[in-house]
Amino acid sequence: MTDWRVDSWRQKPILQQPSYNDKAKLLEVENKLASYPPLVFAEETRQLYKQLGDVAMGHGFLLQGGDCAESFDEFNAPKIRDTFKVMLQMAVVLTFAGRCPVTKVARMAGQYAKPRSADFEEINGVALPSYRGDIINSFEFTKEAREPDPQRMLDAYHRSASTLNLLRAFAQGGLADLHQVNRWNMTFLENNPLKDKYQDLAERIQDTLGFMEVIGLNSENTSALHETSLFTSHEALLLNYEQALTRIDTLTGKPYNCSAHMLWIGERTRQLDHAHVEFFSGINNPIGVKVGPTMGEDELIQLIDALNPDNIPGRLTLITRMGADNLANNLPRLLRRVKAEGRHVVWSSDPMHGNTFKASSGFKTRNFDAILREIKQFFDAHAAEGTHAGGIHLEMTGQHVTECTGGAYQISDDDLAEAYKTQCDPRLNADQVLEMAFLVADYLKN
Ligand code: PEP
Ligand code: MN
Repeated sequence: MTDWRVDSWRQKPILQQPSYNDKAKLLEVENKLASYPPLVFAEETRQLYKQLGDVAMGHGFLLQGGDCAESFDEFNAPKIRDTFKVMLQMAVVLTFAGRCPVTKVARMAGQYAKPRSADFEEINGVALPSYRGDIINSFEFTKEAREPDPQRMLDAYHRSASTLNLLRAFAQGGLADLHQVNRWNMTFLENNPLKDKYQDLAERIQDTLGFMEVIGLNSENTSALHETSLFTSHEALLLNYEQALTRIDTLTGKPYNCSAHMLWIGERTRQLDHAHVEFFSGINNPIGVKVGPTMGEDELIQLIDALNPDNIPGRLTLITRMGADNLANNLPRLLRRVKAEGRHVVWSSDPMHGNTFKASSGFKTRNFDAILREIKQFFDAHAAEGTHAGGIHLEMTGQHVTECTGGAYQISDDDLAEAYKTQCDPRLNADQVLEMAFLVADYLKN
């Protein structure tokens, strides 16, 4: 760690990277990016760090969610707004019904790079390089489209900047006002079986706001009522991009990755002696790492040592993605060991990535009940071990897609074709995540 530099990761083995043909262009893009303004400020990341520190110590809950992969094509205001709204709705449900402060972190404004299970994809006997996210190549199945292009890093940077700009405006410009909570739900909840339950909650919130108004606490003098903080995050997979956006903070003199507030390492790139762990060990953001069912207890402690040697609460979030059928055999042993060693981490559940399967209709999907079962077991395991179930990490969208089966509307295998839009993994839709929030709020309260 003492010899960490922003580019020391380049001396280590690295997985899941594109191979760029045009090295001169790559260098030109990296230099350009390094000269561009940061997307987030170090001070903001410290606020998130502090909130996550509270979660690590047992107070509060982390709600992290967004697309599996953001897309350059589906880049528009309604899409950003809808995901923002549904995250806020979920947070209101969790805060009010679950009686728990919620830290909101979007998988947005930079979630453009994807690890893949195979380097090549074969369709009708034609093999082409896999799609690796819009920051690297294009989804379209042609040789040209699948060629990694450094220029895409600049496109991703500009889209991230616009997305962040809108998110900040929404968060501060009234869309997040709790008084609006009734209003921004109406159209969205038409025909939803949860409408009454949500309506009831909204009325209780209105009553509470009415009471606060009477005693002199209103939107004009209480910023918590009319604005919110929404932080951004993504998997920092493409280290050329992440390095270029890493800057020395003028206040502390320390390096921060200014491409997002929080970054995480994926399940496929968390090897101790590899590039991603090296890079993450030197940046000062709050960070996460995915933890799958094959993780050993010793291995996990070594990883914690590498990523949070000073054991600072809030620095490290362990995002477990076990699969509903594997969790009981694997999470408790990790919880026990981390607790026995006195390590402060946020435990968050990603109930998506261990529950993916191919539907009879051919679509890659996930079932609502399996997702919920993983979350429920996550809470149960923490209750049994005396540790804090600190958060959930979801692939979700505010739009009405049909990518995951089940939920109140009972989306079936055959329904998937109706609005299957993801370029990567299947997401819960707005109805499904809101339903999930109500169920999780019940676990939180208990
Ligand atoms: C993801 O979060 O989209 C992802 C690829 O997850 P994991 O690294 O856990 O497989
Ligand atoms: Mn995914």
